[in-house]
Amino acid sequence: MEFKLLTLLCVFIHTVNCDDKPNIVLLFADDLGWGDLASYGHPTSTSPNMDKMAKEGLRFMNFYSSNPVCSPSRSSLMTGRYPSRTGIYPGVFNCGSVGGLPLNETTVAAQLKKAGYGTAIVGKWHLGVGENQQYLPTKHGFDHYTGIPYSHDMCPYYVCFYPNQSCFDHGRQGDTPCPVFQDEKIMQQPADFLTLSETYSTAATSFIHQMADKKQPFFLYMAFQHTHHPQFASKMFTNSSIRGMFGDALNELDWQVGQIFDAINEAGVSQNTFVFFTSDNGPSLVREVRGGNAGPLRCGKGTTYEGGMREPAIAWWPGKIKPGKTLELAATVDLFPTFLKLADVPIPTDRVIDGVDMSPILFENEMSQREYYIYYPSGASPEKGVYAIRHKEYKAHYYTSGTGLYSAHYPDAACKASAGTVKHDPPLLFNLNYDPGELNPLNTTESPYNEIVKTINKIKEKFEATVVWAESEIRKGDNNTAKPCAKPGCTPFPHCCTTTPSMSKTTRVL
Ligand code: MG
Repeated sequence: MEFKLLTLLCVFIHTVNCDDKPNIVLLFADDLGWGDLASYGHPTSTSPNMDKMAKEGLRFMNFYSSNPVCSPSRSSLMTGRYPSRTGIYPGVFNCGSVGGLPLNETTVAAQLKKAGYGTAIVGKWHLGVGENQQYLPTKHGFDHYTGIPYSHDMCPYYVCFYPNQSCFDHGRQGDTPCPVFQDEKIMQQPADFLTLSETYSTAATSFIHQMADKKQPFFLYMAFQHTHHPQFASKMFTNSSIRGMFGDALNELDWQVGQIFDAINEAGVSQNTFVFFTSDNGPSLVREVRGGNAGPLRCGKGTTYEGGMREPAIAWWPGKIKPGKTLELAATVDLFPTFLKLADVPIPTDRVIDGVDMSPILFENEMSQREYYIYYPSGASPEKGVYAIRHKEYKAHYYTSGTGLYSAHYPDAACKASAGTVKHDPPLLFNLNYDPGELNPLNTTESPYNEIVKTINKIKEKFEATVVWAESEIRKGDNNTAKPCAKPGCTPFPHCCTTTPSMSKTTRVL
């Protein structure tokens, strides 16, 4: 009762009690690898704003996304639950997917909103739109939404760099042009990639200023389209990097980060704002020099090797979080309970929450409360279940699987589709402190590794006993009626779905 009363006061009166709740800004990159930032060792990336954040913040060396591809990764970020429990498997939602994040799931935005927070998402949602747009972020606790609700390669496209440079390929011709939603309405279709990042930055910074003016605590989820394929950049960032197209896109992402920090400072809320940066999955190595980099880690997007799921992650809150780096184990699934703890919101008890509170690592330089981490693949299934488990410095692979996200001449055969799915019994065991590249399996027939495998087997058994696999939302399939269209019922579909009378250059059919 007391909690609800305080919430009402926050929403309607904006008392000083609300000001005590920290603002939370989540910066979430797309397909950015562990080795892509200068602060994680990349030699030719230039990202001054990210570098400053890294210098002033806490860098995680052992931080994981929840899946090696977008939708399941994002489902865990939003719910604090592994995707097996929420039905976000296998693979990702398409432009015309009829499924979405189930409405009986509760998101971090919905929980923070209950506590008086203003909530906004800018950018890529990728948890479904649905036939009646019933899965948009505004149905999941966000007050405001500006963005393309899925990957920007799930559309036809032609221009990615100034003034008329191509996107390398032309995207998916059978899908509607990329829509930019403003809440539940399409404000631009097709999305103009040359101005998209500015549109996103304006939406994000306006929200920060509005909330600060109202003295209302806020949660901003900035889900960049960068650095997913196809790379794109505005005039300001075209040919700005010696790292090529990927570097240009990363520079634009960094500029967006700078805009957000500027707004936090200008709005006078920097003392009371927690900012966290990470990425949804590893680099897309099939894109070769136009994809990201996993540094010393094996493989990338699509696999449960470290390169697919270990991510750069930086926590920033000067005066509260000590600058430096940490080796503690943490994951995107932990952000749900961590944000709720910061906002003094109780963790839901009517469902299993897989995340653990990261506050001891962030604010007390203490050890992680996380004892192990679970790896599910992009093609997760109830039949195979858990693919790998990390316990302390050891990782046991029960299955490994290559994917088609690697070019034919990629040097490591284990990453490629031709590697197939292989069951390992006993599991393949690596010491990630000694061998982050997972190249030297340990001899599990001898002590001490046979004992370590037994311990991890017990963890697996105990964890899997808690999992009730939800029906797959992604297997519900696609339908043209679910493809976002600014002119429903128009012909010729899907290219008629535009907000402008003439076809934009970004969707021109050549
Ligand atoms: Mg991704």
